[in-house]
Amino acid sequence: MAKPSERVITIPRMGTLQLMLEDMFARLDVKYIMPPPSTAKTLEVGVRHSPEFSCLPLKVTLGNFIEAIEAGADTCLMAGGCGPCRFGYYAQVQKEITKDLGYDVDWIVLEPPKKGFISFLRTFKKMAPHRSIRYIWRQVLISFEKARHYDSIEKRLLHNRAYELEVGASEKAYTEAIDILRPAVSKEEIAELAEVALKHMDESVAMDKTKDVLKVGIVGEFFMLLEPVVNFDIEKWLGERGVMVDRAVYTTDWIAPSLANQVGGLSKEEVSKYADKYLSHTVGGDGQQTIAHTVLYVEEGFDGIVHLMPFTCMPETIAKSILPKVSKDLDIPLLTLVVDEQTGKAGFITRLEAMLDMMWARRAAKAGHDDWIPAGAGTH
Ligand code: SF4
Repeated sequence: MAKPSERVITIPRMGTLQLMLEDMFARLDVKYIMPPPSTAKTLEVGVRHSPEFSCLPLKVTLGNFIEAIEAGADTCLMAGGCGPCRFGYYAQVQKEITKDLGYDVDWIVLEPPKKGFISFLRTFKKMAPHRSIRYIWRQVLISFEKARHYDSIEKRLLHNRAYELEVGASEKAYTEAIDILRPAVSKEEIAELAEVALKHMDESVAMDKTKDVLKVGIVGEFFMLLEPVVNFDIEKWLGERGVMVDRAVYTTDWIAPSLANQVGGLSKEEVSKYADKYLSHTVGGDGQQTIAHTVLYVEEGFDGIVHLMPFTCMPETIAKSILPKVSKDLDIPLLTLVVDEQTGKAGFITRLEAMLDMMWARRAAKAGHDDWIPAGAGTH
């Protein structure tokens, strides 16, 4: 086992989380290994060593841990939890599995602050024993603020991509915008460079903002929403077909759910308000948020909702049983996509294509043109 001061920490991949961790560990002067990009092999390794009926995120993140350990990590950092969902057990289960596989690694479990703020802070101290708690906390907060800007840039990508005139131009601008913000250290630099990065997203890409686009909201379980590998990057697929996409949860919203959901746009109170008619209490995970965001997207004039969930996910199974009523009451097309290790991209795409056709047909009917589909719809 590594000495605390010489740890090489790893944590599973999940969307923009890596950007925040890269920044935070650099500030704390802690060695960090990002797991290699998730691939079919990652999933295959995770599935092979996981209980069959565990949810997909456990399998994928276990694959990340194993690949990062093979790459030299000696300390696995994992979030804990205390809600009515299996996420809180992930770290314990993964720890036992890696032990059974013979890996000699240390585990640090970051329990949510509501389980005790002091022990929450002490967990950070385990990662960076050479730093004071005060220093660590200050840097974590600055990194978190920077991560919110990373999320806002990603959100801008989802909104802009539908209007781009050249396929891939927004994606390129996004990579450049991330590189603009990446060197920012102080709070002032972060605020200043985040503004420059967002401006770059808007001004470096040729767009036709008069283009008729569909608006689709993506709701569901956080890992399925945040990690493009497990959702076959449907945001990109939709965006490149002229669909303006909005996502219910961004990485920093998930990290700080008890604070205002600043990037995704819903506070805890708003979640209760919008979901109340259909689901008046939390069911663990993101079940209640899924309902709330669906209702809100209807209010905001969206054309359809895509609901993503892992097979056997308890909170989203509850949401899935309620969503047909929401869809019927509010007259909004809704497609639930359930994912497990057997899911193939082709099945996803076929159903999304059918949904796009239906949404365009509804638009046409509303406009009084039964056979009218805008030029370029579904092709980009
Ligand atoms: S929300 Fe669902 S998929 Fe995610 S950890 Fe909980 S049970 Fe598993």
